[in-house]
Amino acid sequence: MPTKYIVITGGVLSGLGKGIATASIARLLKSNNKIVTVKCDGYLNVDPGTMNPIEHGEVFVLADGGEVDMDFGHYERFLGITCKSDWNLTSGKIFSRVIAKEREGKYLGKTIQIFPHITDEIKSWWKEIAQQEKPDIMTIEIGGTVGDIENSWFVEAARQFKKEVGPENIIYIHLTYVPFLDSVGEPKTKPAQRDLALLREKGIYPDIIICRSKNILPEKIREKIALFSDIDKNNIITGRDIECIYEVPLIFKEQGLLDNLKEKLKLDFKEDLTDWEKLVQRIKTPKNAITIAVCGKYTELKDSYASIIEALTHAGAHCDTKVKLKWIETTDIENGKLKIEDAIKDADGILIPGGFGSRGVEGKISIIKHARENNIPFLGICYGLQLAVVEFARNVCKLSAHSTEIEEKTSNPVIDYIPEQRNIKSKGGTMRLGACRAILQKGTILQSLYNTDEASERHRHRYEVNPAYHEILQKNGMVFSGISENKRLVEYIELPKHPFFVATQAHNELTSRLEKPNPLFFGFVRAALKSHNV
Ligand code: GLN
Repeated sequence: MPTKYIVITGGVLSGLGKGIATASIARLLKSNNKIVTVKCDGYLNVDPGTMNPIEHGEVFVLADGGEVDMDFGHYERFLGITCKSDWNLTSGKIFSRVIAKEREGKYLGKTIQIFPHITDEIKSWWKEIAQQEKPDIMTIEIGGTVGDIENSWFVEAARQFKKEVGPENIIYIHLTYVPFLDSVGEPKTKPAQRDLALLREKGIYPDIIICRSKNILPEKIREKIALFSDIDKNNIITGRDIECIYEVPLIFKEQGLLDNLKEKLKLDFKEDLTDWEKLVQRIKTPKNAITIAVCGKYTELKDSYASIIEALTHAGAHCDTKVKLKWIETTDIENGKLKIEDAIKDADGILIPGGFGSRGVEGKISIIKHARENNIPFLGICYGLQLAVVEFARNVCKLSAHSTEIEEKTSNPVIDYIPEQRNIKSKGGTMRLGACRAILQKGTILQSLYNTDEASERHRHRYEVNPAYHEILQKNGMVFSGISENKRLVEYIELPKHPFFVATQAHNELTSRLEKPNPLFFGFVRAALKSHNV
């Protein structure tokens, strides 16, 4: 069977949840199908690795080391697949390829233009992925909104693609917005009308329209949208506001989307969502509730911690527990605006996420000290591990210690550059990236959670625990519960006398899926629940 393609575009405004809609559509079609999820981003950066997470949300890291758009997090979490870095096209990647080809003389005699050279490159990239992966279904999500200049070549390539793959093998789904106006008490379709007219102007006639709206749209509104988009009203679906993103596939299915997709793409399979439904139910009506204090510096934009939030939700679903988050801006601790005791007074666990630079660091270190001394379950991620080591070196080993990331000339550089990182000047894609195996030490909390002798998790860092300090840290009671295969790098630490004080050099949140939570997050949530109940 040839690959079936689903192109997903969006309109009116950004932030409507196109990534979640795409992941949900793909989840409905999962069954035994091989699904490949492609995302096209208009920006000229080669990848989002150098962007500020406040501007662009979290940088998602794939097993192969690719730094990609955060929508890949949704794809992996909904589908349980492992995506590849090449599935994220950016204008930066496409333009670089075309310009490199021009220099090589591949287009001798020609004037290189957006149309057809950039659009041809996009289409051949899509086809290359399809040839390599041979998926049953390939979703192609186009970032931004139709009408953005920087996404226009992707939209045009998507239009042309129908001719190349055959109209029976491709459908177009458009996500639009139907605001509910409180003052008139009804949903208004004008923005969607304009949006769909613009899409038609680009030559794309959607097969299915998903309307983001507050509530399920009444039939007469769907009829109205159907009228000016030339499609049957049954192909107009509402993506209503919801509390739990994992409910979206179920809401789509209820409205007949799965049947419509199967019919349009001539697919024949059965998909059983009963287990998924049970997990969603557990997220919505859990037996228990705990609070985790997340202490970082990007707390003003939760999108910078998307995978951590989801990993806690997954672990919570499997412990029948709602995980409430309390965001603590550690600069407030540092400058005395907020007292630690007040900040964490109702927290059952403390999480220090990954990060870079000096802002808020001393605040994080004092929170870690508080967690260590007061037996509060603690999970440190990447920078969180490094700062837990600094804290331990200072307050237990009695060293005047720091990370050279913050204090280059510190007298005890307990955290220092990974040697291979020291002379790297270029910033794009040069950290220690992607999945690396760690050997787990028997008898540790970590090993009992993974229940195997090794764990492969994804990384994104330049610094490590300085091997010159391994001995003194261990002598003072710190356990290295996971180390790299070459035995040089400390991948996990824990403190045996503490109920749960574990930190990881990796980003274990990136491999957590709703149907299979990450073992470390599961252990942390379980420990916090235990501490809540005593
Ligand atoms: N800044 C630290 C490093 O580069 C930690 C990075 C992170 O938390 N992702 O090693």
